[in-house]
Order: sequence, then structure tokens, then C-alpha cells
Amino acid sequence: MTTQSAGPEIERLIQLLAKLPGLGPRSARRAALALLKKRESLLEPLGAAMRDAAAAIRICSVCGNLDTSDPCALCRDPRRDPHILCVVEDVADLWALERAGIFRGRYHVLGGALSALDGITPERLNVASLVKRIGDGVEEVILAVNATVEGQTTAHYLMDTLAPFGVKVTRLAHGVPVGGELDYLDEGTLSAAFRARREL
Ligand SMILES: [Zn+2]
Repeated sequence: MTTQSAGPEIERLIQLLAKLPGLGPRSARRAALALLKKRESLLEPLGAAMRDAAAAIRICSVCGNLDTSDPCALCRDPRRDPHILCVVEDVADLWALERAGIFRGRYHVLGGALSALDGITPERLNVASLVKRIGDGVEEVILAVNATVEGQTTAHYLMDTLAPFGVKVTRLAHGVPVGGELDYLDEGTLSAAFRARREL
């Protein structure tokens, strides 16, 4: 522990901020200072917003999404197609797909990806609840997992697990990013795009 240059309340604020993704000790100090300088316009409203969120937050018992109601707003929305399930690793991925506005079915949040190294087994993920949902008239399961080793391991595992149910299982294509130039792609992306080529 380095010498404290501020009171314990401020040090605690910095330590907590440093736990946020993307913030190291240095950027946490800068963030804390920005908050302290704007006590009325930023620090106090942020504190209140955090308290409100902490009190209201619920994990959806159907899909694993984070919301202020259980079932979540997406699961309750009657306009969303219940026959198509999109499986994601994390709520952040669900948010990304919602921002893109491309999917009008329902989601299922796994809560991570399989990883032997980190001891993440299928039992640690929301796999059992996914299998249970298949019985409710689901016709297609889209595996929207990350293009990482863990994501692909998870996709293979889920394909095997869902095979006996006779449900259509699809996954996202791997390929050239929009606006991407071939010369800049890594070999893995380029070969995946090449293999996934399609007739025009
Ligand atoms: Zn839900």
C-alpha cells in the first residue's frame, strides 16, 4: 500500500472505482477526482443512481438478463418471437444485439463461457435452464457467442447438448468486418471468412 494522499473516504472511493473494468489505479484516481470536483452535479446524483439501481436490480429467472423486473422487459414483451432463442455469454452481448436492432426473438444469457482453465463447467452456466426452455416450442437456437476459444468451445458443447431435441441450431458467421480491408485481417479471421464464403 502506498502512502495515502487523501482521507480514508476518498481512498475507498478510488479503490472501488479501480475495480471497474477498464479502470486501473491511475484512471480510478482521475475519475474519483472528477467526481469530487463535481460533488453536486455528478458525485451525489451518481451515488443516488447507484443506490437506486442496487435496490431495483433483478436477474430474470427466465433468461438471465439484468433488469428491474422479473421476468425482464424482453421476456414479457409479447411482440418478441418466443420461437427463436438467441444465446449470449453476457448481458453486454444482449445489449449489443439490442443496439443493433436486428433480433426480435428472445434471449438466453449463459453468464459466461466454458473454460477448463478457469474452472467454468456447464453447471456454472445457465445451461440447464436453456435446455428446459427448448421444450416451450422453441424452433431455432442462435448461438451468438464470442469468437474466442472459450466461446467456440461453448458453442460446440451446446450443439451437442441440444442435438437430441431436434431443434435448429445456428451460429453467427465469422468473417470480414464491415469496412474491413483484407490486407489488415489476421489469418484466423481471413480463413474463417474464406471458408464461410457464399454464392451471390
Ligand atoms: Zn428475461
